[in-house]
Amino acid sequence: MRLILLGAPGSGKGTQAERLAEAKGLVHISSGDLFRKAEKEGTELGKLAKSYMEKGLLVPDEVTIKMILERISEIDQGFMLDGFPRTLEQAQALDKALNKDGIDKAIYIDVSREELLRRLSGRWICKQCQAPYHMVSSPPKIAGRCDVCGGELYQRADDTRETAQKRLEVYFEQTAPLIDYYKESGRLLEVEGERSIEEVKENILKLLS
Ligand code: AMP
Repeated sequence: MRLILLGAPGSGKGTQAERLAEAKGLVHISSGDLFRKAEKEGTELGKLAKSYMEKGLLVPDEVTIKMILERISEIDQGFMLDGFPRTLEQAQALDKALNKDGIDKAIYIDVSREELLRRLSGRWICKQCQAPYHMVSSPPKIAGRCDVCGGELYQRADDTRETAQKRLEVYFEQTAPLIDYYKESGRLLEVEGERSIEEVKENILKLLS
């Protein structure tokens, strides 16, 4: 099974991708996580990615496509892509690389623009286990500490209000057209994203079965 999770930044893509990959025995591949890892390691790719990420812009297609296709070529089981593709060019390159069938399904998590901005600008994440929190709607029991593992919470540099707004603009301009790309080829599954994490997950699993 080769799946894609489509949705705006703040739609819950990352959280769902992790849970669904586990439930379905798939490898979770997150382009954002791969860029953040490269940035931490101080590689050339990391430096380049940082210069785009901190502005809320997309890393150029050529670099991104190469990174993801390399990662996919390392595995010989099903996978769940999270954050890739984000442009039409990336989607076409992916289908081409995976031969005529391309990916099986693209799952689109639908969340309104106001809710996305609210979620992104209050989001804090655990440094150790990546569990997400929201300052207002789901704060941790102890300020600054993860409820799950006790790790330190941090705010992603690109989750400030200004950058979050830019990321949403970029999403609606460059990534939202992919919804039609997968709909037209009969591969789109849509799910309502303004529900609890568990409900969204169960609804996706129902659509997949
Ligand atoms: P994410 O963690 O998915 O929100 O991604 C964080 C940032 O990484 C994005 O705002 C982009 O700057 C960059 N990025 C992640 N995935 C892609 C992609 N498929 N194409 C271009 N840039 C990406």
